[in-house]
Amino acid sequence: MSNLISLTIDGKKIQAEKGKNLVDVAKENGVEIPTLCYFKSINPTLGTCRICTVKLNGKHTTGCTTHVAEGMNIEINTPELLDNRKAIIEMLYAEGNHFCPTCEKSGNCEMQSHAYNMGLTVTRYPHAFRQKSVDFTPNRMIMESNRCILCKRCVEEIKTKDGKSVFSFVKRGINTQVQIDYKEERKLSDNDVLHAMNICPVGAILVKGIANEKPFGERKYDFLNQNVHTSLNNTNKIELKDDEKFIVATTSLAGCFGCHMSLLDIDTELLDMLEIIEFNKSPLTDIKDFSKQCHVGLIEGGCANDENVHVLKKFREKCDILISFGECAIMGGIPAMRNFVSLQACLEEAYLNGPTSELGADIIPSHEDIPKLLDNVYPCNEVVKIDYYIPGCPPNAHHIWKVVKSILLGEKIPIAHEEFKYD
Ligand code: SF4
Ligand code: SF4
Repeated sequence: MSNLISLTIDGKKIQAEKGKNLVDVAKENGVEIPTLCYFKSINPTLGTCRICTVKLNGKHTTGCTTHVAEGMNIEINTPELLDNRKAIIEMLYAEGNHFCPTCEKSGNCEMQSHAYNMGLTVTRYPHAFRQKSVDFTPNRMIMESNRCILCKRCVEEIKTKDGKSVFSFVKRGINTQVQIDYKEERKLSDNDVLHAMNICPVGAILVKGIANEKPFGERKYDFLNQNVHTSLNNTNKIELKDDEKFIVATTSLAGCFGCHMSLLDIDTELLDMLEIIEFNKSPLTDIKDFSKQCHVGLIEGGCANDENVHVLKKFREKCDILISFGECAIMGGIPAMRNFVSLQACLEEAYLNGPTSELGADIIPSHEDIPKLLDNVYPCNEVVKIDYYIPGCPPNAHHIWKVVKSILLGEKIPIAHEEFKYD
């Protein structure tokens, strides 16, 4: 008797081997279902990350736990399911501390690659900035729990020769995290340790001494994603009178000015830009206050103090379109790394206990003219509405101007993977 069954995937009738995993069946028929926890040798499948959510006969279910059967009607790439999937990745980004520009796994990270493929520039959820442990105690590994997405791959896959678990879940609810058994970790071979790092779909498991072994541009997904394109679909053309130019304002909040340096990196093309653009308030012009309403405002950096919040709100008021450019504006970036320690501890480290503090200088500066630090560093979209995002640390100069120009001119543009990078 034939073992083949018929089913429908996104309206297309196909045949497949009865009982085969839906993720594999879809792939064989040219439809990619993104997964993070699914791993070929783990059986039964885990079904923990949920990004493979599909609809089976009209009901939501996880693709990786579905075994195909006669007459199934599967929906995979409907607008609703695509958005659900993107929302789950956004939740994982918001829930963990994902600073891609400083992450050893960047470029080799499955979650980051999915995010690129989905055109993710920002999360729709506020960042939790959790403070879970980073464990350096194991012999050869580091466990960075703030990046762990609790997929359970390591728990199920990595065992010692005598079958003992090395990784396990500890604590409960939102505090759940993965713990390494130090004694069992010593029994693993060097290959097992590397395997643990490689099967982790994010940068939670690292092997001491070998992170960043490949330069950017040569990492796994740099190579695999070369043909990935996303697009900017802007069709709201700004109408100008005959001799008018587009008016652009820029500012740097809690950033390093690297994004502004990148702005200038188009060199002589800047002169062409100035044919159509006039700068108003900007560190580039040293114009301190708005003298007119602007078409576009470019914001570098997040909000670390009350002055940043004031400036950002002013930009929202005086600019018709507001763009966050660079990781600090989009998710807090490097300045937001202070969110894991209390403000008081931060100030004490900077002014009292730091290696460069002057002996006996036991004063934390405080004056009404000094902007007051906020409890956390906040991404701009958690303070005001942001219309567009240009990721990167810093974003590529040509990409910044390509996006700004297309927004001003109301053009749809394709954006290639190498222009659209978080790292
Ligand atoms: S590269 Fe991956 S694990 Fe590292 S911060 Fe980015 S998303 Fe998180
Ligand atoms: S450490 Fe990595 S493999 Fe293990 S549960 Fe977390 S994300 Fe998954």
